[in-house]
Amino acid sequence: YDLRNEDLRDMQELGQGNGGSVKKVEHVPTGTIMAKKIVLIDAKPSVRKQILRELQIMHDCNSVYIISFYGAFISDPNICICMEFMDKGSLDGIYKKIGPIDIEVVGKVALAVLEGLTYLYDVHRIIHRDIKPSNILCNSQGQIKICDFGVSGELINSIADTFVGTSTYMSPERIQGAQYTVKSDVWSLGISLIELALGRFPFADSSSDDSDLSDLEGTLSPSRPAPIPLRKTQEEKERDKRKKKRKSRGVSLQGGGMTMSILELLQHIVNEPAPRLTPENRFPKEAEDFVDSCLLKDPEQRRTPKNLLKHPWIEHSRSSTIDLEAWASTF
Ligand code: ATP
Ligand code: MG
Repeated sequence: YDLRNEDLRDMQELGQGNGGSVKKVEHVPTGTIMAKKIVLIDAKPSVRKQILRELQIMHDCNSVYIISFYGAFISDPNICICMEFMDKGSLDGIYKKIGPIDIEVVGKVALAVLEGLTYLYDVHRIIHRDIKPSNILCNSQGQIKICDFGVSGELINSIADTFVGTSTYMSPERIQGAQYTVKSDVWSLGISLIELALGRFPFADSSSDDSDLSDLEGTLSPSRPAPIPLRKTQEEKERDKRKKKRKSRGVSLQGGGMTMSILELLQHIVNEPAPRLTPENRFPKEAEDFVDSCLLKDPEQRRTPKNLLKHPWIEHSRSSTIDLEAWASTF
């Protein structure tokens, strides 16, 4: 494909993220349906060109577990990345629509993500860096694929410059400033799997009542607040009251879009025991054990994606005959 913006016809808005937005488009000359990601980048033309060069690696990423790449181009002031369109969307959208996802399906998700990560790392030495339900996509053939991996160092830099950003799928060692490794992706996978199986973000605490959570819109992205319900201590509640008062006087505690609650969440990830696939006995023991090994807080102890492909739950998932195409036809 020789992609030019003029040849792409907008069909539908698919979603908005931190770095930009995604649209379903038709490449008119060939009739190909694509997903076009528009990334706003505040960078010099030379940097943009460098990003474009780095993105070309994606042409060589060929795996059934990785979204295929059609091409990228600059459309000032944006960079557009055209990729395979997945008609069932991302897993966050899916569970929000249908509720908690069956553990057999979650097993297939774990298998697909581990295969995708292993391919990226073994063949291209690429670390994904952003594993989360919104970056795991599904189509009506029942295929599960990952997208939005960190191929371009310059792109990662440019987005980091633009956004005071991090995500809540971040491993304890990353929060504490250590280098990204392929094991950080394994942590993010563990968090994502619990989220899919429970139908909610695992750090949410169901024991605290809603009135406590009303002021807990925490995010590092001012454009997209996500509630992060954590149980609050009496002291924190007092502090919230003071915060509310300050707010009402027009003084904001938010700096660069960062609220207190995201810091609390990051602290929680570092200091508290990792979440687990609970309640006990609701899920297969092997699934619980798999998630536990993804969420070992010490990266030295955590296994690599390649190694985890040998885990009994993944071997079970590989041989499972569950019909993902039939599953995908239910929503
Ligand atoms: P973040 O920006 O924090 O990574 P995100 O992954 O939700 O969050 P985007 O990557 O911009 O943000 O994607 C926005 C939405 O577009 C996704 O949630 C997903 O539902 C949809 N989407 C992305 N890529 C595709 C694709 N190839 N096919 C179909 N839908 C897609
Ligand atoms: Mg994404």
